[in-house]
Amino acid sequence: MVGANKTLRPPMPPFLHIGQSAAIMPPMLRIGIFGGGQLAQMLTQAALGLGLETVIFERTPDSPAGRLVKHEIVGPWDDPVALAHFADYSHLVTLENEFVDAHVLAQLEAVGKPVFPTAATVGLVQDKFTQKQRIAAAGLAVPPFRAVATPAEVLAAAAEFGWPLMLKARRNGYDGYGNATVRSPQELDAAWQRLAARGSPLMVEAWVEFRRELALMVVRGRDATLAAYPVVETVQREHVCHTVLAPAPLLSPPAAEAATALACSAIEAIAGVGVFGVELFELADGRILFNELAPRPHNSGHYTIEGCVTSQFENHLRAILGWPLGATDLRAPAVVMVNLLGQRHGPVPPDALHAALAIPGVHIHLYGKREVRPGRKMGHVTALGQTLAEAKDVAQRAAALVEV
Ligand code: ATP
Ligand code: MG
Repeated sequence: MVGANKTLRPPMPPFLHIGQSAAIMPPMLRIGIFGGGQLAQMLTQAALGLGLETVIFERTPDSPAGRLVKHEIVGPWDDPVALAHFADYSHLVTLENEFVDAHVLAQLEAVGKPVFPTAATVGLVQDKFTQKQRIAAAGLAVPPFRAVATPAEVLAAAAEFGWPLMLKARRNGYDGYGNATVRSPQELDAAWQRLAARGSPLMVEAWVEFRRELALMVVRGRDATLAAYPVVETVQREHVCHTVLAPAPLLSPPAAEAATALACSAIEAIAGVGVFGVELFELADGRILFNELAPRPHNSGHYTIEGCVTSQFENHLRAILGWPLGATDLRAPAVVMVNLLGQRHGPVPPDALHAALAIPGVHIHLYGKREVRPGRKMGHVTALGQTLAEAKDVAQRAAALVEV
């Protein structure tokens, strides 16, 4: 690893911004992160607590994480010069979202830069179809699914799976944006056109009549050590995670064990290193199906910051560094997280937290995004309690008072 002053790299183009003092800094372990949003921000907060620094590589300036760090690179992720500088500044590279082209990660690996999760893992899971294929091949329960190249192939799938169907973009979907529920053949053309316009190939899944959605974080170290967090219930609003209840209420110990075993096997099946969010469906008969996984810290794991002995962010860093993993136990009988989703358009008032902070015991996080937009994830609140009802009451009262 060399500092920027010792490299033979071409001079930085004007769209790159990087801390000027880097050349004279004593060496510190620097974790490069693709992405500068709230996940990178919270990862950076955890990194600082472990005596680490992060290098943020984001496509646009003024990202929540970019503002916190000395080493910020702004530019396209596939720009060779920006990528070379990012690699120079980072001892080890990770990511906060799975939309980084796996070929870019492979380029870093090819020059000897450790990347976790690896390019192979990210390449496999950033396509929802190949991800599900791998999980199904490992013998884990998934809804019936199929890749489709034409609307006619969707109709053929419907003949087997029945209506409604879930049509999904294989790549770059998030918060439900890459999905369309198709209830009948009449709805197919509009759904196909909307999703195909996103430029990704599509897949279909049988509709799952789930009782509720569960999730859990799994962390896997470089030596393949596994640790699982508690199974939580996630409640979505408009396809966006809204509330997380930890532990999931009314989940029998065998069901929790089955969900945990499924999630751990899924991460082993993709040879994952780092922390992973695993989303599950619980059916009315108690069976658990795999929905999808994310190769990074996950919204359903934000409660771990105050709610668990080791947060998902700290454990991600421990895992990718090859350090011992931390305990994943809850620190209270019940923990509830509520997302602060934007309610309007406009700036965030400087005293947005004033009223909510008066509620005793609540933990409030704002991500430092300057603009509120309806549905935008602006922050989250977490409350610990003796019961889920108690924690939920505190979290919901606080969330209602934050002015976003
Ligand atoms: P995220 O919100 O995690 O970014 P995403 O956009 O990647 O999600 P999915 O998790 O695939 O997409 O789907 C979003 C939501 O749509 C799920 O949480 C679930 O509520 C619903 N859903 C997904 N697949 C199915 C299915 N096969 N049947 C019924 N509902 C589904
Ligand atoms: Mg999802």
